[in-house]
Amino acid sequence: MAGANLTIALAGNPNSGKTSLFNALTGARQHVGNYPGVTVEKKWGAAKFQGGEVTVVDLPGTYSLTAYSPEELVARDYLVQEKPDVVVHVVDAANLERNLYLAVQFLELGVPLVIALNMMDVAEARGLRIDEQKLGQLLGAPMVPTVARTGKGVQELLATAARVAAGRQEWRPLELSYGHDVDHALTELTANLEAGGRDWQPLGPRWVGLKLLENDSEIKKQVSRDPVLAAETEPLRQRLWDHIKNTMDDDPEGIIADHRYGFISGLYRQAVTETRQQRLELSDRIDRVLTNRLLGPAFLLAILYGVYEFVFWASEAPVGWFEQFFGWLGGAAEAVIPEGLFQSLIVSGVIDGVGGVLGFAPLIAFMFFAIAIMEDTGYMARVAYILDRLLRHFGLHGNSVIAMIVSGGISGGCAVPGVMATRTLKDPKARLATILTVPLMNCGAKLPVYALLIGAFFASQQANMLFALTLISWGLALLAARVLRWTLLKGETAPFVMELPPYRLPTLKGLLIHTWERTWQYVKKAGTVILGVSVIMWALMTFPGLPQERAAQWESRISAAQSQEAKDGLQHQMAQDAVRYSAAGRMGHALTYVTAPLGFDWRTNVALVGGFAAKEVVVATMGTAYSLGEVDPEESQSLGERLAKDSAWNPLMAFALMIFVMVYAPCFVTVVMIRRETGGWPWALFAMGYTTVLAYVLALLVYQGGRLLGLG
Ligand code: GDP
Repeated sequence: MAGANLTIALAGNPNSGKTSLFNALTGARQHVGNYPGVTVEKKWGAAKFQGGEVTVVDLPGTYSLTAYSPEELVARDYLVQEKPDVVVHVVDAANLERNLYLAVQFLELGVPLVIALNMMDVAEARGLRIDEQKLGQLLGAPMVPTVARTGKGVQELLATAARVAAGRQEWRPLELSYGHDVDHALTELTANLEAGGRDWQPLGPRWVGLKLLENDSEIKKQVSRDPVLAAETEPLRQRLWDHIKNTMDDDPEGIIADHRYGFISGLYRQAVTETRQQRLELSDRIDRVLTNRLLGPAFLLAILYGVYEFVFWASEAPVGWFEQFFGWLGGAAEAVIPEGLFQSLIVSGVIDGVGGVLGFAPLIAFMFFAIAIMEDTGYMARVAYILDRLLRHFGLHGNSVIAMIVSGGISGGCAVPGVMATRTLKDPKARLATILTVPLMNCGAKLPVYALLIGAFFASQQANMLFALTLISWGLALLAARVLRWTLLKGETAPFVMELPPYRLPTLKGLLIHTWERTWQYVKKAGTVILGVSVIMWALMTFPGLPQERAAQWESRISAAQSQEAKDGLQHQMAQDAVRYSAAGRMGHALTYVTAPLGFDWRTNVALVGGFAAKEVVVATMGTAYSLGEVDPEESQSLGERLAKDSAWNPLMAFALMIFVMVYAPCFVTVVMIRRETGGWPWALFAMGYTTVLAYVLALLVYQGGRLLGLG
């Protein structure tokens, strides 16, 4: 930008050396006035640079960019209205963490930013070694070390500012994660603020939403001037604000600030070395152990194992009660409803189908409770931090961890928000690799399948099995990502900062609300989507009925039978024949040509086809299939007991099936989401194809390998 005119806004905390830098830049060519309408002093001056004229505007010293004080508002309004070419933020390098808080807010706003690392002499004397190159890269704003008092670094600062100003005109806001609750609230608010094609340039709707949650009086005023927004956004804002306050027992402002500091803390750890022992905060002291290179992963595995032990232990009794209840309900329905299609629909389609899924609600609830504890204490951020180091070797990104955990990295989660969570990944190839591998995580829909099969075939090894499945799913996801990054998605991985917000003591109320919200999602899904698909699967397994002559043959054999026992046996065989004859039965049988090497029978095939709609359907469909061809009509057994008794099943096949369910095609909604997030069908179809092929190969290896070892 040689020779061109340039406006620089100088910003920073009070006492960072801003005035000294302003003087060093402009010398005697200064003017003083007032910002319009307020008593805040406005200073500006001129500097010569490469033959051009540079105007330097000295913004008032501030700590934040939320309208808590006139200075903050003036600084913000100036930036938004005047749009200077570049903002130079003066930070006190000796108090870097505290000073970078403002930098994060400039980045959230999206202004072109250069950071003057001032007081470098003091920082060095205190034994701080700052890798400004790395810090600048991670933060996304170049850093120039300066000593304003002596003028050191000032020319380089001007050159960098000119370079940044020439490089871009658009404001590009940094989108941080502020934790589950605030992120969720922001998504809702953003959608609301964007309604009617409203354009919040240059601020961006997410930023406006953020300020609304921070209770920014100025932005609230602005929003309330628009009658439509005033009627909709304000109540929404209030509801979301209250919700966060209720669950987290803290104002959203405080939580947002925590996450900004968390971001800085992660940054600081990567780029600054303290050569002298400094006072450690409590969080830091805990992190010395929990995020230690060796101890951290060991603790993580131990905690995970403990969580699984706890979940199975705590849910054993209530899951039993639910099973008994649905068993009783089925019996009662049979007694009340006259025999026929309608009875079959209610008993086999609805109660034995959906009931099987609902029966695992307590297990799901305890899992979500454990996850809520990990999230609300801040430990989940440490999990991400520890795994981040591992993921880099697989060509993934720090935020891939978050997406994977959201998708069910701990067990229980959902790939739909998981795929959406990859939006914060700026590196397109790492993002795509993440999108394509998060469906391998053990989402909440796979859990009932695991719980069913583990309960039926591995009852003495429950926690061990889930632990193994978790490790397998991570192993597969990482390998798949590595292969993708070596082949279709080649490229470098950009550096990234993991947030480390301080630990918090969770409240029981908050934990319960989080647990309830997610468990309710599970129950609601069982009562809607799963119910619908169950009814469809029931119909497919019921129609078309047996042809008349075949039915007549059965009937005559039944009436010819001597004892009641023989009659019952034939009745039952007829029912099974009917299921086999049904549309689904024929499809399931046809598929055995493909799945026989995996050990799957026709019922499993039908269940797996249904499972593409949603993986809970695997459980529901098996419930219906076994209910329709009931093996022992006298007793109302749970599905797990039925499977354990069925000679077509054995532990090896059950394990092969769990691996298959873990890996094969993501459910329909996830596929649609992948299509949306990757901008078309090719990647969505690829995700379905590669996972199904992989699932087949793995289940084949498990089943045939196991048989070779004599396990079948
Ligand atoms: P402002 O409040 O941000 O405008 O800060 P000032 O420019 O008034 O500086 C505050 C104090 O820090 C003054 O005593 C300056 O002389 C001193 N100061 C400014 N920059 C530096 C620097 O780079 N190194 C050292 N050692 N002191 C500085």
